[in-house]
Amino acid sequence: MLRFDSVTKRFGPTVALDDASLEVAAGEVVALLGPSGCGKTTALRVAAGFERPDGGRVEVDGRVVAGPGVYVAPERRAVGMVFQDYALFPHLDVASNIAFGLPRRERGSRVDELLELVGLTGLGSRSPGTLSGGQQQRVALARALAPRPGLVLLDEPWSAIDALLRAEMRGELARVLRAEGVTVVLVTHDREEAFTLADRIALMRDGEVLQCGRPEDLYFTPADRWCARFVGASNLVPAQLASGFEGGERVGASGEVLVRPELVGLEIDPGGAAEVVGRTFLGHDVLYRVRLADGTLLAAQRPSNEEVPLGSRVRVRLHEGRVTSFDRP
Ligand code: ATP
Repeated sequence: MLRFDSVTKRFGPTVALDDASLEVAAGEVVALLGPSGCGKTTALRVAAGFERPDGGRVEVDGRVVAGPGVYVAPERRAVGMVFQDYALFPHLDVASNIAFGLPRRERGSRVDELLELVGLTGLGSRSPGTLSGGQQQRVALARALAPRPGLVLLDEPWSAIDALLRAEMRGELARVLRAEGVTVVLVTHDREEAFTLADRIALMRDGEVLQCGRPEDLYFTPADRWCARFVGASNLVPAQLASGFEGGERVGASGEVLVRPELVGLEIDPGGAAEVVGRTFLGHDVLYRVRLADGTLLAAQRPSNEEVPLGSRVRVRLHEGRVTSFDRP
């Protein structure tokens, strides 16, 4: 449904997209995740047609919409977009906002259907200015979905909504998008948001797509150390292969192993060689910092019913789970 083939976009000296490639299949929800300024919004704007790339090729639904000598205007791409600030028309009521891109004869029934889908039945005659942030977001989403686009682009859909409501709305959004069966690309810098909503995540940095895969793949087998750290707390532990079973690795080869903090178990033991030197209560979990005998610091995340006081001597045990290795830096 969407393909970026080595897309580059510059703004003066800034390279906002640097040879970025990405494929999104029909019906998929893909999140563009990355730090501020990495090019996420630019990627959406290029997909929608609000920016023309300087190099590479963009396809929507199998048709080249931008590339050498080709540029298809946004309104001819059958792509819906929800902007960060929703960009609702303040002088039109909710129903007219939703109906904006629809042929006249389709308006009534489709608008009612969408109002119901996004949970705003009965609010069609309200003015957008009288709605809460969450309700405005739903109107913007309904407006984007109204003409049944194959592809919908969402730019940080929750930036204007408080944290508590966000979690609730994520579930709601997922339901609406799946009900419409639409392909979605959404931008976020919040990994939890990406994990909960996306089938696949494209992790970006400095205009490049560094890794694209299922949330589990990014978490457990990140492409490099930076990716590892961006998607979650990471222990990079020096390691040596004691007995080999995976192709290509020599016994004795050394490198680092990524161990996620929930795999690090702690057992209180007055004779233990490690010490708990930090403790942060997070509610359902507690994040510990543990100093090993050789000075190495490890992060451990344990359920909060396992209480290990600060300063405890502990024995550290690795639980079974997925780890990944990197060559020595
Ligand atoms: P954020 O999460 O902060 O919204 P982002 O990942 O969406 O960031 P972009 O908005 O795509 O990042 O910006 C990528 C880079 O391109 C940034 O350095 C930004 O300053 C620059 N940039 C984006 N749009 C323009 C523009 N119209 N003119 C000049 N520079 C721009």
